[in-house]
Amino acid sequence: MTRVAVIGAGVVGLAAARALARRGITCVIFEQGAPGGGQSAGESRIFRHAHDDRRQFELAVRARRGWVEWEREFGVQLISGDGAMVIGSRAVARLQRYADEPVCQVRELSGGQISEALPILAEYEGPALIDEGAGAIRTRLTIAGLIGSPGPELMPERVESVIPRPQGGVEVICESGTGSFDAAIVAAGAGTGHLASRAGISIPSSTQAHMRLTLPVSGESAPSRLACLQDSSDAFGESIAYGSPVRGNREYAVGLAISVEADPERPAPDSLADVADRTRAYVERAMPGLDCGGAVSFQRWVTELPWAADGLAIWQRDDAYFIAGHNLFKLAPALGETLADCVQDGSVVPGFRPADRLGEPMLEAR
Ligand SMILES: Cc1cc2nc3c(=O)[nH]c(=O)nc-3n(C[C@H](O)[C@H](O)[C@H](O)COP(=O)(O)OP(=O)(O)OC[C@H]3O[C@@H](n4cnc5c(N)ncnc54)[C@H](O)[C@@H]3O)c2cc1C
Repeated sequence: MTRVAVIGAGVVGLAAARALARRGITCVIFEQGAPGGGQSAGESRIFRHAHDDRRQFELAVRARRGWVEWEREFGVQLISGDGAMVIGSRAVARLQRYADEPVCQVRELSGGQISEALPILAEYEGPALIDEGAGAIRTRLTIAGLIGSPGPELMPERVESVIPRPQGGVEVICESGTGSFDAAIVAAGAGTGHLASRAGISIPSSTQAHMRLTLPVSGESAPSRLACLQDSSDAFGESIAYGSPVRGNREYAVGLAISVEADPERPAPDSLADVADRTRAYVERAMPGLDCGGAVSFQRWVTELPWAADGLAIWQRDDAYFIAGHNLFKLAPALGETLADCVQDGSVVPGFRPADRLGEPMLEAR
């Protein structure tokens, strides 16, 4: 294996290219827009260990080690040390399952400790836990660090097709011409399904519009601690809300885990405006420490697989590999290594095949 094409310079494609380059494999990344400008855009994502599927917890543990390695290499902290707090019985039960895992450093929080961890939150009296090993991912610093990683060449081109050759190798077709490679990784986010279908693979992902609000934290100075939040409590009128700090705790991004069926080629549907209104109403009830007047909305397309909100899988056609799923940012260091393993082994790493339905809660005991 000497030359690999990676389609997509989002966090997953960049992580895969970095992993390949470190193994001495020449790598060309094709990107149609700004690197990190697709689903990986914006400030801040949540890193959490807790997943419904234990296999994904193990993947998150591997990824966390990778984040530490990236931090060392890029010389910058990429995951905040403020932890991720969960409130509400469903989120608490999910994290509770990992309470004995030393990497999570799970602690129960009482009233005063809740407002210490997240001072912008309204009074809350229900069950709360914190994963001290989790935190907010500094997304822009991550993308910048990966782009600066030595090795891969970046080609500012839109790929029209990826054609695997049954006799081996892959042709990558762009407007400016066709290139031959030993293998290809397609990590094109919302564009992966289209490229897969041109290679004869049907990925059952749905493209959905997702939005969140970013709001200034009230007061003169930024709080010294702002944990991420997952709220399944309904105490503030929503049972699937999340939040994470932005810009050195001066702002907080808040969203509802609701995505709206939509076509990326068309304007966002009205139902997305309803989600924005619901998010604002949630913030008014739940987070008196945020200034709703300064809310800015952020919208992107996300791709979800049918078996789980956190579902992910890798499809193979000969020497071409296609990755699809949701909430991949936190897992990127491990996914990059996994994709590089697939290319080197010539097959999808067991556990990541579509039939494995990674992320599906029902199969966690396997
Ligand atoms: C608002 C929001 C909040 C989120 N919160 C979290 C969170 O808290 N935790 C978490 O882990 N994840 C979260 N996610 C999901 C996470 O951000 C994505 O799963 C992840 O960024 C996907 O990265 P990617 O590299 O696969 O795709 P992308 O970042 O979309 O990268 C794909 C790239 O491929 C390029 N491309 C597409 N088609 C072509 C083509 N034909 N030719 C050339 N280039 C092409 C695109 O321009 C793009 O840059 C969130 C997502 C959103 C939108």
